[in-house]
Amino acid sequence: MRSALALFVCLLLLAPMTRPASAEDAPGEAKPAAADIEQARLEAHVGWLAAPERKGRGCWPEREASAAYIAQAFAEAGLVPLPGRDSMFHDQGGVKAPALRNVVAWLPGPEGSEHVILSAHYDHLGEKVTEIVDGETSIRTSMTFAGADDNASGVGALLEIARCLGARHKAAPTSFRRGLVFVAFDLEEQQLLGSKHYVAEPPLPLERLAAFVTMDMLGRSVADLAPGHLFVMGTESSAALAAHVAAAGVPEGGRLSRIGIDFQPGYSDYEPFRDAQIPYVFLTSGACEDYHQTGDVAPRIQFDQLLARTRWARDLTMRIVQGETRPTWRDEVAPSVEELEDLRALIRTIEKGMADVPGLPPMAVMVVGNYGAFLDKVLADGAVTAEERNNARLGALNLFRIAQQLAAQMAGGR
Ligand SMILES: [Zn+2]
Repeated sequence: MRSALALFVCLLLLAPMTRPASAEDAPGEAKPAAADIEQARLEAHVGWLAAPERKGRGCWPEREASAAYIAQAFAEAGLVPLPGRDSMFHDQGGVKAPALRNVVAWLPGPEGSEHVILSAHYDHLGEKVTEIVDGETSIRTSMTFAGADDNASGVGALLEIARCLGARHKAAPTSFRRGLVFVAFDLEEQQLLGSKHYVAEPPLPLERLAAFVTMDMLGRSVADLAPGHLFVMGTESSAALAAHVAAAGVPEGGRLSRIGIDFQPGYSDYEPFRDAQIPYVFLTSGACEDYHQTGDVAPRIQFDQLLARTRWARDLTMRIVQGETRPTWRDEVAPSVEELEDLRALIRTIEKGMADVPGLPPMAVMVVGNYGAFLDKVLADGAVTAEERNNARLGALNLFRIAQQLAAQMAGGR
């Protein structure tokens, strides 16, 4: 059951691409010093944020407590509020309580310099209470959506990177070429309200924002079938960011997959920044089998993977902070042979895996096979046109739609 569903769900997010790790350090990258990312601290952060007391970080008291926890960790890391602010809390509206609260702090760069944002959302779905009334008795049940992967994992990474780079900044405050702003967004799960608020009322001018990085789900893998896999999306809109990613190598013991953001129907906090044409990177290990379910709990996080990905995200961030030139936005996505080769390799992997899945509708196997053959044809001449890329994209989104329908059918039949 699991593999039948999972194979489909992971269709687009499994491209097997590996890249040799670069032995060289990033420009300005110090050797791992006193404060390196620690697995035990990641476990503690995820454990706290996804604990039953946090009730899934959906309602205000629990979101308020989470924001306070994050602000305290930022302060302990040596981060400070942005210029002109005496607090790390960036609130919006509300009567008795703010409608939303982003937590924002930074490690300043030289006077008047550009800055880079590293971010993760801290809210999740909260609880769902149902009451069944049967005559005189009523039964109340509540389900908690702990959101350990989505996105306590990303917040844990954010806090550990803050601690590590905070120590580096303290040791050499003038060594940062750009400022580094850390943002824990509120209300991503409610139409991206937190990140939309940031872009609508930027606390630092967006003209000086050189790049935006967000981490959303870093602790498991797509349908739990691709352990070690980290997806990097968005670099198709910035040659400089693509180059930084290429230079960063791969997370220890893992792999990277760079696919255009338009090949997948999901979304995250990068959207308002992308719409403002800020060069961005979206890091995710993909939707696990318990995505937006009650099974997304801390004990199911692969902490060794989270550790490797957090270190990699830190190194990538420092490459961007220290990069010589500012990344520029590219409107036209250049069709890339590499992207479609990865996609084809993914399709072949899935085709192979499907052979071992009992009870899979023959239609499903045929659709995937046809798509693989289509990619063969596109790649036969060793080049990809814009039209071919677009057709590949539409085909991929169509496969996604079929996979979701099939998953819903199979879930309904359980
Ligand atoms: Zn999320």
